[in-house]
Amino acid sequence: MDKKLKDITDEQWEDICERCGKCCCYKYVIEETNELEYGESCELLDQKTNLCTCYHTRNVDKPDCLKLSAENIDDNAWWLPEECAYRKLVELYDDE
Ligand code: SF4
Ligand code: SF4
Repeated sequence: MDKKLKDITDEQWEDICERCGKCCCYKYVIEETNELEYGESCELLDQKTNLCTCYHTRNVDKPDCLKLSAENIDDNAWWLPEECAYRKLVELYDDE
């Protein structure tokens, strides 16, 4: 992993997220084309604020909700929306 990403504190990591809620939807890979498609929003997403209604307990309330971290972002950036701040960060570091 990139040293700069590894060195980000938990607080800095949380601040990177722009709270757009665009990652909080179901994802499907179309078998024929291997393309990723986004479906309905997660039922725990507040549609007005785009914020998770159970953010601090999301791994319990929604066990298949993946908590993104500096440790796992390299493996997961591919399914995040192109405009996601974490995905942009990974792409930025990959370009260096
Ligand atoms: S549980 Fe919360 S963070 Fe996880 S996908 Fe649903 S709304 Fe998003
Ligand atoms: S798409 Fe990225 S920036 Fe937007 S809420 Fe999800 S993790 Fe945060």
